[in-house]
Amino acid sequence: THGRDSPSIVIFSITLLFLVATVRTFTFDVDAGLQLGKWENTTAISLNLRSGRLIIPTVSFTEINVNRSALREFDGLLLRKVFPKIFSSSLVQHELVGNYSQLFRIPGSEPDLEPYMLLAHIDVVPADEADGWDAPPFSAQELNGFIYGRGTIDNKQSVMGILQASEYLLERGYTPRRSFYIGLGHDEEVNGLYGAANIVKLLKSQGVKLQYVLDEGLAVLDGIINGLDGPAALIGISEKGQATVKLSVSSAPGHSSMLPRESSIGILASAVNRLEENLMPRLFGYGPERSTFEHLAHKFGLPLRFITSNLWFFSPLLSRVLERINNTNAFVRTTTAVTMFNSGVKINIIPSYAEVFVNFRIHSAQTLQEVLELVKSDERVKVELVNGFDPLPISSYDEQAFGFQIIKKMVQSMFPQLTVAPGKTSDAFLLNTDTCESLFKLINCFNTNVDVCSVFFIINIRI
Ligand SMILES: [Zn+2]
Repeated sequence: THGRDSPSIVIFSITLLFLVATVRTFTFDVDAGLQLGKWENTTAISLNLRSGRLIIPTVSFTEINVNRSALREFDGLLLRKVFPKIFSSSLVQHELVGNYSQLFRIPGSEPDLEPYMLLAHIDVVPADEADGWDAPPFSAQELNGFIYGRGTIDNKQSVMGILQASEYLLERGYTPRRSFYIGLGHDEEVNGLYGAANIVKLLKSQGVKLQYVLDEGLAVLDGIINGLDGPAALIGISEKGQATVKLSVSSAPGHSSMLPRESSIGILASAVNRLEENLMPRLFGYGPERSTFEHLAHKFGLPLRFITSNLWFFSPLLSRVLERINNTNAFVRTTTAVTMFNSGVKINIIPSYAEVFVNFRIHSAQTLQEVLELVKSDERVKVELVNGFDPLPISSYDEQAFGFQIIKKMVQSMFPQLTVAPGKTSDAFLLNTDTCESLFKLINCFNTNVDVCSVFFIINIRI
């Protein structure tokens, strides 16, 4: 009887699974039951900078070479003139940190509530019109409805947005319930050693514990995720780790007429080949990436909706699809990029030494140490860590996560057409978990007319 029964049990089980998956496809929505707050939605805020509009070139060149006169001008001639209330209000505590970074504290009426912090940065990377800008990079010239300028996306739109909203609220006599900080760094593009680092030091010395921090990071993506209906706002909840690893081989030098069995270059090339052939392990579903897809599930068309609503079953399949696409392989694993290979000085000399640099972006479910262990394969190849750090902790984004939910609800109430999902970024960041509970990253720029793709280009940055 065993042989006769098992096919029908298999068919019954498959049918049942299919039914469950189908029901889930049309009912699964992580936003179901989400209550939106009653907030004032206003378009009454506008920034009048039209006369003589020019972008002040607050360029950071290196950690010690920043445009100090532009930073002074930005503070004195622009910020204090355009936002007089926030600088003069008796409610607001303001100080300059590291000479040019700004720190504001707006105390709330309920001091027991843990404060949060809004971050943005004043400085920009250099820009040269000769690189092919359609309008001079510090001109704020308007072309086809876009304002062109270095910093319009990264990150002066956040500086202006945060200050403008605060100015508006202060003018109307608003006092928040929960205290908050505004931190505007002046050297973020060169690692924030004087700005962000000193702000952290200051807050720590005052024993401040932040509920969450909102910083620039992921963007509103429209037409970038294949098959998704409408734009999506991804809130960064973690960052991948990083490692730059040097592999090297040293052997006795020789003339090319007296061939050794294996050259340093050959040994090292084999090691590189093994790294590229044996990708880092598949970890899809062990980090927050599975949630990203689950949050977006209800906005996918079929068959993607069926798959993403049922990742309890399709996770292995989806991870195999994602890893085949260059852009999405990073969701699945630690990525391996061989970036420099150096060896040899003369065409008839077999070099004794060969070295290669490999850059890894480490998946949330892996550690720097685990990556280093996997890199070792041949005892003749020396493995050295040049620099690196573990993936950042994952900020919680469940129903009880105050920071994530408030940001998500704010985005959804202002822009109902957006789907909001947690996501991961891969930039270094200085704030650490001693200071804040959760770190969220979302570019403060929700106008869907924004040409988000220009964020990823070096030139023609516009808004
Ligand atoms: Zn930035």
